[in-house]
Amino acid sequence: MTPIPLLDLTAQYATIRTEVEKALLQVVESQHFILGPEVEKLEKALAGYLECKHAVGVSSGTDALLVALMAIDLRPGDEVIVPTYSFFATAGVVARLQAVPVFVDIDPLTFNIDPGRIEPRITARTRAIIPVHLFGQSAEMDELMRIARQHGLRVIEDAAQAIGAQYRDGRRAGSIGDLGCFSFFPTKNLGCFGDGGLVTTQDAELAEKLRVLRVHGARPKYYHKIIGGNFRLDAIQAAVLNAKLPHLDGWSAKRRQNADVYSRLFVAAGLARDGAPPGDAEGDPVVISQAVYRGSAASSYHVYNQYVIRVRERARLRPYLADKGIGNEIYYPVPFHRQECFASLRCRDQDYPQANTAADTSLALPMFPELSEPQLEFVVQAIRDFYR
Ligand SMILES: *Cc1c(COP(=O)(O)O)cnc(C)c1O
Repeated sequence: MTPIPLLDLTAQYATIRTEVEKALLQVVESQHFILGPEVEKLEKALAGYLECKHAVGVSSGTDALLVALMAIDLRPGDEVIVPTYSFFATAGVVARLQAVPVFVDIDPLTFNIDPGRIEPRITARTRAIIPVHLFGQSAEMDELMRIARQHGLRVIEDAAQAIGAQYRDGRRAGSIGDLGCFSFFPTKNLGCFGDGGLVTTQDAELAEKLRVLRVHGARPKYYHKIIGGNFRLDAIQAAVLNAKLPHLDGWSAKRRQNADVYSRLFVAAGLARDGAPPGDAEGDPVVISQAVYRGSAASSYHVYNQYVIRVRERARLRPYLADKGIGNEIYYPVPFHRQECFASLRCRDQDYPQANTAADTSLALPMFPELSEPQLEFVVQAIRDFYR
């Protein structure tokens, strides 16, 4: 079997090469490289797709989060509640504005922020919550929005890994909170050829502010009532995304199908039990959390930016898989409360048992739309052989 990488972007490019090349050439011919018609076309298309009134293209997913926090006027010393288990940007943007990230433990079934642990962390300084739809599955938004509204907090959804994901009743990830943030980093489900991002909102005033902040806070040009930054999206990136967007739902469906095959094979191999929650499955070599396995059947629509399981003996399993040419990765080895740069926050490690366990046991397996059934079987067989 040829190596199976964690992600194979060349396989996808082969299927869309002509459309993308045509779109790229058009931008080059126009010599219009920053914002402009391609970006406007993308914003319109994505606002429709994501069921949001407004969509603002920006320079990256990180900048989407940063400019969203600037749009709600986050001040130094303000507190923002974030899950302790996510990609660094979720917490980094808060600290960069001299505000304080307040970390909350995760739900072991979904790896997402545990809404039940949010209220005790709310203080008079809390301004916002940033739920992350980790690995492509929506966080528990109903409970979260109830808490936020009751305490007068803003909600900024970090949907970087979850474009096209749906929460109950088909609501799109990124359309439920005050602002939704997306990334077009090449490894995300809708990736461009560099950095790119998007902020969505249903609020016309916030949308207008995002557009002004994106160009250094200027309105009109060279007149600055507020201070923004260079958060602009390139036309080249927008053109790539415009060409890819019509394929996104098909790719998401393939990812879900691949995830279902993985989970079925793990259960059939006797490595995991059908829907056993992590606590009940401690003796199993592989734990497929209920939410992952049930993702496709349940009312929420998981788009599997990553397929993440929990495993025993991870330190030995990883080199074994690598030796067989099977890509694998740890998302994430160090939760925020354990990061050196946040040591001054004096977090108590024992407040985060679920994130700590996830950091010690989680393993991401190869996941992309073009994976074949024999490849999925090869991965599961290799893992079965390891535990035999
Ligand atoms: C990728 C990612 C980001 C940052 O996006 P960039 O485009 O890489 O800046 C933020 N949050 C999460 C959860 C991510 O996965």
